[in-house]
Amino acid sequence: MFKKDFPYFKNSEIVYLDNAATTQKPKAVIESQTEYYEKYCANTHRSSFGHANKATQNFENARKTLREFINASLNEEIIFTKGVTESINFIAHSFAKDFKTVIISSLEHHSNIVPWHMQGRSLGNGLEVVKCNENLDFDFEHFETLLKENPNAFVSISHISNAFGKIHDIKAIIKLAHKYNAIVMIDGAQSLAHMKVDMQELNVDFFAISSHKTFGPTGVGAIYVKKEYLKLLNPYQTGGATIYEVDFNSSTLLNSPYKFEAGTQNIAGIIGFGEALKFISHIGYENIETIEKDVYNYLNEELKKLPNIIFYNDINNSIGSRSFNFKNIIHDDIGILVDKMQIALRVGHHCAQPIMKQLEIKGTIRVSIAFYNDYTDVDRLINALKKALSMLE
Ligand SMILES: *Cc1c(COP(=O)(O)O)cnc(C)c1O
Repeated sequence: MFKKDFPYFKNSEIVYLDNAATTQKPKAVIESQTEYYEKYCANTHRSSFGHANKATQNFENARKTLREFINASLNEEIIFTKGVTESINFIAHSFAKDFKTVIISSLEHHSNIVPWHMQGRSLGNGLEVVKCNENLDFDFEHFETLLKENPNAFVSISHISNAFGKIHDIKAIIKLAHKYNAIVMIDGAQSLAHMKVDMQELNVDFFAISSHKTFGPTGVGAIYVKKEYLKLLNPYQTGGATIYEVDFNSSTLLNSPYKFEAGTQNIAGIIGFGEALKFISHIGYENIETIEKDVYNYLNEELKKLPNIIFYNDINNSIGSRSFNFKNIIHDDIGILVDKMQIALRVGHHCAQPIMKQLEIKGTIRVSIAFYNDYTDVDRLINALKKALSMLE
């Protein structure tokens, strides 16, 4: 129903089910970027001619759009980055670097594991990992134990697992963490494509956002920083556009958010991201959630009928992604075969090797949907899987 708004689907017969890796872009997003390049291409916050002013204004409007979209209280709390990976690295290597303990969960993406290793942390040595149970639910008891043993920790947890679609109850996680004076960053890479998030209601301290997972351009993201931490946050890179005054002895930095946005930003991408958010607002999360739930349930019911299928979590508290394997069949083989049948899905570890190791598997077959997917996509997927399975028997 919404595919008509996405040029990709006009140009392709592919059944696109890899939305947890990246989403397709609506026409309005693509056009807003072309318009910038063709009609008013200029740098922002520097020159004062008409097009430069227009570029700056549209760039700042995107910040305001994002601020309203996630209900942050101030525009200054929105700092643009090139994606969730950069957002997490920024906070890890500035604000969070001197924390004695960092707590993550066993369902994290490599982006929320590797930066902590780069600081010399390892399990039990500055890094603690909250277990999940056999249904991949977050273990709150274990979390509370870790918080008690490590007061004033830095907690960094994903909202939705890209590998399994599991939703963490981040509101409860944040509340419990605050009880033990911990500070919380949420990896929201998978959130905005599927559900509304409200910074003030969550009372979260840091929240990482990805544009390309949210129907916007690649190479754009943001980190929301609660205002009380803006003053305590040091930039981890500096240069042009971050300074108030420089001589050869010292530099005075601008206020937030500018002191954190070093160098020329992805101006077209950020403007495009603003358009993506407007597009989502126009459709509305209520619609998105209803459509997705329906297709997700249908997908699950149809998958369940396939012989020898193995799931790793039930679909309660899950959204977007569904991960599975077939007994005695290598997931890579399925990937190769369904690709020939025009099905785009992902096979492998999904940038989450530690949880795969815990489950004692190399990877899974992952189908990840967005609101533009429909029953026809699921039917074509199931037919392709059946065919692939019959070839591998
Ligand atoms: C995609 C993803 C990331 C990385 O996001 P980028 O914006 O591509 O850097 C991090 N965490 C999760 C859960 C993801 O799905």
